[in-house]
Amino acid sequence: MDFNEIKSQIPDNVELIAVSKRKSNEHIINIYNKGQRIFAENHVQELVEKQKTLPNDIQWQMIGHLQTNKVKYIAPFVSLIQSVDSIKLLTEINKRALQNKRTIDCLLEIHIADEDSKFGIKIDEIDNFISTVLEAEFNNIRIVGFMGMATHTDDKQKIFGEFSKLNDVFITTKNKYFADKPYFKELSMGMSSDYKIAIEAGATMVRIGSLIFGKRD
Ligand SMILES: *Cc1c(COP(=O)(O)O)cnc(C)c1O
Repeated sequence: MDFNEIKSQIPDNVELIAVSKRKSNEHIINIYNKGQRIFAENHVQELVEKQKTLPNDIQWQMIGHLQTNKVKYIAPFVSLIQSVDSIKLLTEINKRALQNKRTIDCLLEIHIADEDSKFGIKIDEIDNFISTVLEAEFNNIRIVGFMGMATHTDDKQKIFGEFSKLNDVFITTKNKYFADKPYFKELSMGMSSDYKIAIEAGATMVRIGSLIFGKRD
């Protein structure tokens, strides 16, 4: 689908994240030239290589599972880590951010789908997680919101239900812990197949790959 056409379907208050994983620099520059500046990757090595070779006004985000021992490679430049799901990882991000004299924005990845995934914080663990984070007083990270992925299904009602549930806990969490923190405002949900449903359910960021770049090999 044409990039401008996709872009025109996304409201101004929703940020489009172009997911460029496994796509060449040439592909990325093509979309960059149409005005896109926020790109996301799910592998550290690929992210680092692309950041080195592509224009430096690109904001690079990490959306894939992140191993603690690889945080150091992206800490100098990453603009948002969307896939934080452990205190151990957050501790390492804070440490590496400090070394780089930066504050790194993070989203907590919340597990909302039916599928058994090793990744993501369960909804009933959120309170505990956030209490621990606040007690730790990390000075070089900011939790700016939540990220979630819906079940892989054609059932639109089910997807809408999962996204709405995440929006509910997002609002509850904001009121309970971040009422005085205006930066806690991002809800990243929706990919090529379900971004319209996600926007209806309250997403402030959508992560779109194959619709923009075509199918991945
Ligand atoms: C690959 C990926 C996307 C984009 O998926 P598409 O279906 O290609 O739009 C979004 N979010 C995450 C976490 C991904 O890994």
